[in-house]
Amino acid sequence: MESRLTILGCGSAAPSLLRANTAQILEMAGKVILIDCGEGTQWQMLKRKISAFKIDIIFISHLHGDHYLGLPGLLNTLSLYGREKPLKIFGPKGIKSLLFHNFKEAEIYPNYEVLVTEINNKKSKKIFEDNEITITAIPLQHRVPCYGYHFDNNHYSLKINKEKCDLALLGFDVIKEFKSGNDFVKEGVNYSYKDYTAPYHIEHSYTFITDTLFLPELAPIFFKTNLLYHESTYLNILLDKAITTYHSTALQAAEMANLCQAKLLVLGHFSSRYPQTNELLTEAKIIFENTELAEDGKVFIIK
Ligand SMILES: [Zn+2]
Repeated sequence: MESRLTILGCGSAAPSLLRANTAQILEMAGKVILIDCGEGTQWQMLKRKISAFKIDIIFISHLHGDHYLGLPGLLNTLSLYGREKPLKIFGPKGIKSLLFHNFKEAEIYPNYEVLVTEINNKKSKKIFEDNEITITAIPLQHRVPCYGYHFDNNHYSLKINKEKCDLALLGFDVIKEFKSGNDFVKEGVNYSYKDYTAPYHIEHSYTFITDTLFLPELAPIFFKTNLLYHESTYLNILLDKAITTYHSTALQAAEMANLCQAKLLVLGHFSSRYPQTNELLTEAKIIFENTELAEDGKVFIIK
């Protein structure tokens, strides 16, 4: 099964009419993952018809306002509308006290469990793993502790042999059981899923790198990633500014894509000094041809 990345916001610093602050929805291996939650993320989700109720896990890169200020509001709304499913949140040290302080002072008592894990690793580290997906936190270099995330979808799934099912007159309800690896009994006859399916391997990955100096030494961690989202706050002519503010340029993002041999590079986190982002794209394409621009509402398929 393919994964799907929806850009909810790709602007930097303060929200603008051009672009919302950073937030993305990654749908991978049946999970709905929110990555960063800048102010206004709830509005962006409403606009894109994505239900906040479906979110399973949230990853926050760092505690600058343009990446997390939407989170208290989102948690509040989920409580207001009676979410019951526990919610996992990963983020840098300090996120727990920020959220729980807000709950306490605002007298919010969520009826769902908020499971916050603070990450504090100095080297890249696996922070989540189940049968289908592995997630690595990658320390970046910004003015405050900041993490990139690498999502690796790597598992076996079952492909239905449609012809065989049709021949045996097996309908949709049976196919559903087979897909989950269950046998099916119909009129006393046992149909084994093994006879009607074939295993196939799924592997693809997504890498999210934002708010950081250019760190070429990270490339091996997400070598051959299918989609690399890399911040490109500035054009390379403003390299000095990028360095003093701990950001990267479009050219550097392309260098990273080249080093890690990404299939596709998506540029984002644009400074509001660029109402048009075409120049950033042109700059990146000099080094890495398969580059696209993030845009609020844009969807990328990862497979
Ligand atoms: Zn930022």
